[in-house]
Amino acid sequence: MKTVGIIGAGQLARMLALAAYPLGIKTKCLSFTDENPASDVTDVIICREDDNKALKDFVNQVEVVTIETENIPLEFAKKIAADKPLYPSVETLAIAQDRLQEKQLFRSQNINTAEFFPIDSLESLKHAAKQLGFPCVLKTRFYGYDGKGQAVLTCEQDLMHAWQQLGEHPLILESFVPFELEVSLIAARNLQGQIEVYPLTRNEHQNGILRVSQAPYKHPLNELAQTQVLNLLKHLNYVGVFTVEFFIANNTLIANECAPRVHNSGHWTIEGADTSQFEQHIRAVCNLPLGSTKPKGFSLMHNCIGHMPDIEKILAIPGAHYHTYNKTPRASRKVGHVTLCGENKLEVLEQDKQITSM
Ligand code: AMP
Repeated sequence: MKTVGIIGAGQLARMLALAAYPLGIKTKCLSFTDENPASDVTDVIICREDDNKALKDFVNQVEVVTIETENIPLEFAKKIAADKPLYPSVETLAIAQDRLQEKQLFRSQNINTAEFFPIDSLESLKHAAKQLGFPCVLKTRFYGYDGKGQAVLTCEQDLMHAWQQLGEHPLILESFVPFELEVSLIAARNLQGQIEVYPLTRNEHQNGILRVSQAPYKHPLNELAQTQVLNLLKHLNYVGVFTVEFFIANNTLIANECAPRVHNSGHWTIEGADTSQFEQHIRAVCNLPLGSTKPKGFSLMHNCIGHMPDIEKILAIPGAHYHTYNKTPRASRKVGHVTLCGENKLEVLEQDKQITSM
């Protein structure tokens, strides 16, 4: 039986492991932290990032390695890739870890982005802010997620404060995009080059954290988003599931960031598509034929942030699917999600109001 190694053991690894089981594929996770939602359903080895022996043992026990987070040390990734196929590649990981390289990649493929400047001093911040005007958004280039490590600057007085908060990190200053909505496009490519693309998903964030995703989101820019992501996959010679988050402003697609992995905005595919993004990723990295991405009706995924809603109340809603990650509840923490599926979009949106009030 083939074993897929996964770096990380959070909820994404947990859902990858669950999707691998029916295919007769085992998983084994390597984690650098103590709380590991994947450990309920698969083996997890816990080690320090510099524990070369543990890494070697792990790599010896698997046939192929993938990740649930792009934020792993590149040196670590290089050691894995020297022994076993690693998807995504070290080169793709390097790009996806760095907001600057990500934007440069988009531009090189003729994909629109916000205007941006790399920032390494207060002087460069002042200069860039003058070019972009206010408001603008200052972000750490590395290790930012769920809106962490960023600040919206509204006037010159904000510059010094933001520099004091974030200035010890490499930074990027972006123009503020007055977007009408946010969407993401998820696609997969296997070793043979087969590509399958999911329909556009509409996403709503609050305080930088994804709250709700709806799919399929019918929009005239769906086809362009699909073409752009397809070109990226080919350009990167990519294997696995890949996600790009876009803003839509003035009927234009503006790429914000990419993730070389399964994505929170694709959780609806577990019940809402012919093949879930998790199974698709396992298929891709094991070089199996990819599955249909066709949506089954309309789906809405509601992130549970801070705490899980009452399971009895959720399961009483027809078409509702409850997913807990078994994480310790904490403010601003994603502890699970609920997906509502149905034929009638208005009915599903109405059901979602019940969840919002729980
Ligand atoms: P990010 O960490 O880049 O995904 O940003 C988190 C959220 O902040 C995004 O989903 C947007 O809602 C908002 N945001 C990020 N960058 C910008 C920008 N340049 N202009 C406007 N809003 C932004």
